[in-house]
Amino acid sequence: MVRHVIVGGGTAGMNAITTIRQYDKGASEIVLVASERPYARMVLPYYLKGDISEAHVYTATPARLRALDVQTYIGRRAVGLDPQAGTVTLDDGTQLAYDDLLIATGSSPVRPPVPGADAADVYSFWTLEQAQAVLHRLRPGCHVAMVGAGFIAFTILNAILARQARLTVVEIAPQVLPRMIDAQGAKLVEEWLRQRGVHLRTGANLTAIEPADGRKRLRFQEGEDVVADVVILATGIRPNLEWLEGTGLAINRGVLVDEHLRSNVPNVYAAGDIAEGRDLVRGEAAVHAIEPTAMEHGRVVGANMAGQPVAYRGSLLMNIVEVLDLEIASFGAWDDPQAEVSQALVPERFAYRKLLWRGDRLVGAMLIGPSREVWTSNDLGMLKGLVQSGIRLGAWKSYLHHHPFDVKRAFIAAGTTARLLPQTVLGSPSVPAAAVAVRRGV
Ligand SMILES: Cc1cc2nc3c(=O)[nH]c(=O)nc-3n(C[C@H](O)[C@H](O)[C@H](O)COP(=O)(O)OP(=O)(O)OC[C@H]3O[C@@H](n4cnc5c(N)ncnc54)[C@H](O)[C@@H]3O)c2cc1C
Repeated sequence: MVRHVIVGGGTAGMNAITTIRQYDKGASEIVLVASERPYARMVLPYYLKGDISEAHVYTATPARLRALDVQTYIGRRAVGLDPQAGTVTLDDGTQLAYDDLLIATGSSPVRPPVPGADAADVYSFWTLEQAQAVLHRLRPGCHVAMVGAGFIAFTILNAILARQARLTVVEIAPQVLPRMIDAQGAKLVEEWLRQRGVHLRTGANLTAIEPADGRKRLRFQEGEDVVADVVILATGIRPNLEWLEGTGLAINRGVLVDEHLRSNVPNVYAAGDIAEGRDLVRGEAAVHAIEPTAMEHGRVVGANMAGQPVAYRGSLLMNIVEVLDLEIASFGAWDDPQAEVSQALVPERFAYRKLLWRGDRLVGAMLIGPSREVWTSNDLGMLKGLVQSGIRLGAWKSYLHHHPFDVKRAFIAAGTTARLLPQTVLGSPSVPAAAVAVRRGV
């Protein structure tokens, strides 16, 4: 019997397991090694806000894993890999032999190299355990200092404010969301947040985090200190590659994978945040540390591990976040310096659209607008569809250039839905994950 070893039980790992079972109906052995119980990091902001309970964070219960006939090593870490011998070594010394291996160990938060940043009472927000620690510290009226104004920081602003904390966001870059939107868009977002009571400091170079009578004092190269009750660091992430050093795997920013999510070692695959695979729009290798990529990678790699030679078209870079009822999104090559640009700004309505073109194809887009405006959410989906489909817009390019707020006409006229509808990740009709099980009544 073929033995698949999956290291990592996050989105990529769990989607791979379900997809293997969808195809092989239990005809292989699956072994899962995961340092945490399987859960979705993406829902942690809703847990912090109190919208969902801890039980809803998990993506697979022990019973579900039994139904999928998975042998588990939960709470164990993989610390070594020997591709020649075909074995993975765990932190308790256990050696697991595999016929093929999936590396889906995701990423970890990075802390800034300043004194005090590594203190136990300075928090990251990446794992369930860290979310629990932050939740435990948040009190109405307390002052939260968020270091970093990137995508992850923005996913938890709503929750912090809903818990009636005061919030100061400090960012080393001259603007908020520097890897997601341009300077013009950032100005709108900053103004929106300031009007709603969020203190923002951009261009702020943190130099130390010091204890201050049970609170924390943040010092900067210039400007006043910030004293806060709770400090959260959201200063970037890096793929968990340490355990793969010296294995001969081709690694750049992540594990380099081909269209089948296979590394340079034929029976070793990688998926999700740790994999560097094809970017749908740019065609180059890229790490897209986002949930949709982890999900699609997981499904494609699972099919391939089950013997179905499914090729992956590539993942669409997309960042969508809603803060205090302002929708902020960017797709694809939103920062392509060579692209032709169409844009429109209505500052009094906090509305911004930026479209990036290569010929008559939309290769990237940016959108900002209040969530309550129906055209914001409509345009969000349609712009994503136009970039994802890569459809040629012909004369509609000129129309969109002059009317970037009227996406609907071009979307419909170009037949975008008809292009997108037949596309599925695996090239066959989707099967709901819940319908996949190989053991009943366990
Ligand atoms: C607060 C927050 C909000 C987010 N919001 C969004 C969002 O709105 N949209 C979006 O697209 N993305 C979002 N993300 C990012 C998204 O969650 C990740 O891109 C996604 O989880 C990646 O899936 P993955 O399976 O590659 O890795 P992970 O989900 O990180 O899973 C990695 C797994 O590997 C295990 N592991 C790690 N090292 C080892 C080891 N050595 N041995 C064994 N097991 C190991 C871990 O315990 C875990 O089970 C958010 C993330 C966070 C933290």
